[in-house]
Amino acid sequence: MWACLRPLRLPKALRNRTVSKFTSTRRTPKLGQNFLADPAAARAIAESLGPVEDRTVLEIGPGEGAITELLAGRAKHLIAVELDRQLAPSLRQRFAALTNVQIVEADILNVDFATLLPSAKASAVGNLPYYITTDILRHLLAAHQHFDTIVIMVQREVAERIAATPGHSEYGSLSAMVQLYASVENLFTLPPEAFSPPPKVHSSVLRLTIAPRFAELEVQPEPFLKFIRSAFAQKRKTLRNNLKEHHQPEVLRAALDSAGLRADIRAEALTLEQMAALWRGVTTIE
Ligand code: SAM
Repeated sequence: MWACLRPLRLPKALRNRTVSKFTSTRRTPKLGQNFLADPAAARAIAESLGPVEDRTVLEIGPGEGAITELLAGRAKHLIAVELDRQLAPSLRQRFAALTNVQIVEADILNVDFATLLPSAKASAVGNLPYYITTDILRHLLAAHQHFDTIVIMVQREVAERIAATPGHSEYGSLSAMVQLYASVENLFTLPPEAFSPPPKVHSSVLRLTIAPRFAELEVQPEPFLKFIRSAFAQKRKTLRNNLKEHHQPEVLRAALDSAGLRADIRAEALTLEQMAALWRGVTTIE
């Protein structure tokens, strides 16, 4: 699939370099450091953002710069947030000549996007450190008003869960949560050999196009997200059993009834529209 990608124009200082030239031997496994070693894959990820010439791009975990060096030559403004205390200064030095590139040494989970990003909507990209994939997603989606496109590489199984549709066994609270904020495309999958060192798992790239559904579904974000988490608390249990800790049985029975749902239904079978109807029923009756 890489063949269809148009070549990227790199800034002069970076031309003729390849990903592998920057690959060092020092790794911090605790920080999820599996660096992209396949330049075509790095290009495919950068291309998945679409045109960025007049956009701000936030990169999460630039590492040794495989994706950073492609975007540095294209984005109007690139802000890359790296936690590693050695990688961040070395990236800063490497991109010092490019005034559109800003390297921030920080934990992405502590970044306040309202302060870091300009008011126009930004794109976000990252080959994520897998140990905090869900936390990063929550952090980005809680600040969704700052973004319109998010391209992330995650573990293949996590990508499948995020993109799953109701009625499938992978569909769960993570799928519902992400799909309440964005439409999800599962773009492509990479084998472990595309990375150095190779992780134990395959990885997939997702594109999230931000389009929150709370208003259309007539739900309030915080309580509805909490309701969803409770509904999926134990996937083997029925929806009613999961929710009975928080709501009276007769309220649940009446709300399921008025939403036209069977009493023994499981959360994974419900569309977001049905889940919203149930939540509205419960809150109205209570
Ligand atoms: N983007 C590079 C690539 O594709 O080769 C590196 C990806 S590597 C999977 C994840 C990167 O995230 C590492 O550079 C790691 O140091 C960085 N990282 C880990 N935890 C982080 C955090 N909490 N905040 C920011 N960066 C983090």
